Amino acid sequence: MSTTTSTVSRRPGAGSGPPGGRSQSRLARVRRARAINRDLARAYPDATCELTFSTPLELLVATVLSAQCTDARVNAVTPALFARYPDAAAYAGADRAELEELIRPTGFFRAKADHLIGIGAAVLDRFGGEVPSTLDELVSLPGVGRKTANVVLGDAFGVPGITVDTHLGRLARRWGLTGETDPVAVERDLCDLIEQPEWTHFSHRAILHGRRVCHSRRAACGVCLLASRCPSAGEAGPADPREAERLLRGDDEERGRLLALAGVGVGGAE
Ligand code: SF4
Repeated sequence: MSTTTSTVSRRPGAGSGPPGGRSQSRLARVRRARAINRDLARAYPDATCELTFSTPLELLVATVLSAQCTDARVNAVTPALFARYPDAAAYAGADRAELEELIRPTGFFRAKADHLIGIGAAVLDRFGGEVPSTLDELVSLPGVGRKTANVVLGDAFGVPGITVDTHLGRLARRWGLTGETDPVAVERDLCDLIEQPEWTHFSHRAILHGRRVCHSRRAACGVCLLASRCPSAGEAGPADPREAERLLRGDDEERGRLLALAGVGVGGAE
């Protein structure tokens, strides 16, 4: 782990939460990042990959399809896809028009079909038909970047990895844990703060928090359990609990848990 003493700047006029940056040492950021992760674990005890898969190849395919698409839509498409293309050889030899038709609902289907056929051929030719289990090998496959590779490593092979999607990048900046916008740099900063065994779990929890509470436009700061640790509290969204409660997403059970952890009973913000 790095011993750098660098700090992350806090924007002028940032929110009503605690100082998160300019004056905060790396050690303080480590402590705050790990405390955030522990809070997230209480909020999302079952957070996991929301894509349906049973093999590394299936997860790789589903993750490629999830670009610019919801996991729910991908999960609606993959049962027929996985049945039609059970292994790398099947993707390598796929009829392009048929494959495109099957994955059309996920968007960008021509490019995604290219990637799936290319992945099938590469896995077959270079890895004996088995999806490789190292970052360098995975990112050598067509259309596979670090984000996709880390999903496969973490969820199919149990190798800890931090997956920086738009949610996690946004949250890490709001939390003052990075000042970077490049996903690779954000990943590096977070890996330096969070314990390695927690990397995959932290990613799932934080991404879920981005979907349920800390939205890109109006975050539900007033009912966020992380508000006391977050330098953007009240800046990224309303601090008023009544207003914020209306912004929460998720089913009733999840909303109730989130409100209780934030110290607001169900309907308590009314
Ligand atoms: S919802 Fe608000 S308080 Fe919670 S993590 Fe996001 S910015 Fe911070």
